[in-house]
Amino acid sequence: MLSTEISAENYSKELSDIIEFALNEIYIVDFNTLTYLYVNKGACNALGYTKKEMFQLNIFDINPELTIDKINFLNNSNNNNNKGMLHRTIHKRKDGTNYYAQSYLYTKKYHSKDAYIIFSTDISEQIKLELQHQQQSKILEHIHESVISTDLHGRIISYNKGSEKLLGYTEEEILGQNIAKIYYDKNCYSFDSLGKILKEENDYDMEAYLIKKDRTTVLCDISLSSVKDGNGDFSGIVGYSQDITDKKEAQMLLEKQARILSHQANHDTLTNLPNRTLFRDRLTQTVISSSRNKEQFALFFIDLDQFKKINDTLGHHIGDKVLIEAANRLQGALRAEDTLARLGGDEFTIILKDIKNLQSASTVAQKITETIKEPLIIDGHTLFISSSIGISLYPTDSQNEEDLIKYADTAMYKAKDEGRDNFQYYSADMTARAFERVRMERDLRIAIKEEQFIVYFQPQVNALNGKITGMEALVRWQFPEIGLVPPGKFIPIAEESGLIIEIDRIVMKQAMNQFALWYKDGLNPGILSLNLAMKQLAEDDFIQTLQESMHFLGFQPEWLELEVTESQVMNNPDASIKKLKQISDIGIELAIDDFGTGYSSLAYLKKFPLDKLKIDQSFVRDIPEDEDDVAITKAIIALAKSLNLKLIAEGVETQEQRDFLVENGCSSIQGYFYYRPMPAEEITKILQDMN
Ligand code: C2E
Ligand code: CA
Ligand code: CA
Repeated sequence: MLSTEISAENYSKELSDIIEFALNEIYIVDFNTLTYLYVNKGACNALGYTKKEMFQLNIFDINPELTIDKINFLNNSNNNNNKGMLHRTIHKRKDGTNYYAQSYLYTKKYHSKDAYIIFSTDISEQIKLELQHQQQSKILEHIHESVISTDLHGRIISYNKGSEKLLGYTEEEILGQNIAKIYYDKNCYSFDSLGKILKEENDYDMEAYLIKKDRTTVLCDISLSSVKDGNGDFSGIVGYSQDITDKKEAQMLLEKQARILSHQANHDTLTNLPNRTLFRDRLTQTVISSSRNKEQFALFFIDLDQFKKINDTLGHHIGDKVLIEAANRLQGALRAEDTLARLGGDEFTIILKDIKNLQSASTVAQKITETIKEPLIIDGHTLFISSSIGISLYPTDSQNEEDLIKYADTAMYKAKDEGRDNFQYYSADMTARAFERVRMERDLRIAIKEEQFIVYFQPQVNALNGKITGMEALVRWQFPEIGLVPPGKFIPIAEESGLIIEIDRIVMKQAMNQFALWYKDGLNPGILSLNLAMKQLAEDDFIQTLQESMHFLGFQPEWLELEVTESQVMNNPDASIKKLKQISDIGIELAIDDFGTGYSSLAYLKKFPLDKLKIDQSFVRDIPEDEDDVAITKAIIALAKSLNLKLIAEGVETQEQRDFLVENGCSSIQGYFYYRPMPAEEITKILQDMN
């Protein structure tokens, strides 16, 4: 018969094996004699005795701290709850060494004797850890720095006295709270991202703000470490924080001090302008950047003419004020990107960056001589000074710093020799040109006053039928005794000095008068093209003046077209768009002159209210021989088609040029091939012949 029941004998054998081989130490002690009735293998191993030896011993032999009193005490408490009891004790091995043991003890009958049953475990390791921990927390509690630890969710699990001092919260107030209560959320790392960093790095140092109990923040140096659990897994973060507000302030103070010192080292104390050192620095930089960007710049040396006399007769006190005022006036004549420096005494220098031409340097020099000459009123004295300016040019005069300085200085002495109160270029040729310009400006003012300008007209032709469709008005300057001056000679100077505004008004008036006359006489001159400077269009009253004269002359808006050059429009595209829209709105057509030379961006071109592109004569000149010009011309024609703009080509001199343009779709032609610019009387004859 098969039975699943285990016999009682087998059962107790199995149990006693389990007890015998358990890792715990198990003892059974006679209640009265306190000798061992049973010990298991674990107990023998722990103590180093054999079983036989153990049976010779009593419990005092392996529990050196045990006393009769203690046994009585244990007996009593054991009897009270009858559940057995747990206590810590020390076990002594056979070799005399000790270890901590945790014992669970209760009384029971064993082979009909009263006995203690004792289960013990070696807890030496645990005690060691506990002691270490206690020691650490004692240290943490007493160090001045704040030490705070959290679990991975940011729950604060420890908080020491140093933290209390730093943040103002007590341990009770903060334990169990989320770190967000004290970790400022505008710090560059969130708590979560710190968790990610520490998972990789173990340690991380940073500066961050903590929030104090009074809601203010404190800048801290925080050193973070990851906390590992018993399995070595990342389980939390501990942070050591130190208030660095004072340190930061000290550092900022130091930096400020350093800045002041460096400013002092580079600036003149009287005028606060860059001094010689900084000037040399800037000069070096300007040479480098100008060479890289292929720009020209001018170097000015300026000397105040009567300064020494003022200083000697009125004293340094007044002299200083003169220098400060002169510095202010000089600065006022410059753009922000230019460098004005004081080299010492009454010597100043200027680096005039990225000048487009000689004129712009002359204009500034002129402006300086004028502003310095204005009377100075200082402490009740009215003083007059003037300036002598020497100018050298990069790269024309030299590309070398030392030379440029030397040349500007030489030029300044030349200005002194020339009787002071003037400017001189290092190169005599430049000076001559500059003076020619100054003279021309003066002559132009007279020409405007005396209306020495006359207008020529150049017909524009429809090449398909040879008919005149319009005329471009081109100004000529009738210079007394010399004769006609072509616009190329004076328009650039007129533009720069602003005189162009008045000249264009004169041309506009004359040309519109003439057209109105032709129409009145029954002739058909077509559309009048006027060249206008952007400066003219920008005048506040331009549109009003135009409308008034149209009204006065009975001039139709569709008889008029305005030409503005591409480069002028692109100089300030946004302002141009606005202005051109206003003009277009009153029904006047707009043409872009010299198209192809001004680097228009397509994006802008689409925004301009344009009617016509004028292909520049520089492209027309070499067609059909020059492949590039052919390609560009074709591209402009295609562009005009795609933007739905009219086209005209100028500077057409030959049959080939005309044919090429017509074949490629540009049939509106202006040029010597058909007509040269002519005075009004000659045009009248042509128009009469056509009638
Ligand atoms: P632009 O507006 O490009 O005028 C066309 C120039 O080409 C004129 O020179 C004209 O005489 C010249 N030209 C015409 N057909 C031919 C040709 O077949 N071959 C050659 N080689 N040249 C030809 P101009 O009259 O000397 O005028 C020069 C520039 O002066 C004009 O260039 C224009 O920018 C400016 N300008 C002329 N009159 C005025 C004006 O009243 N006001 C303004 N603001 N600028 C003007
Ligand atoms: Ca033109
Ligand atoms: Ca042109």
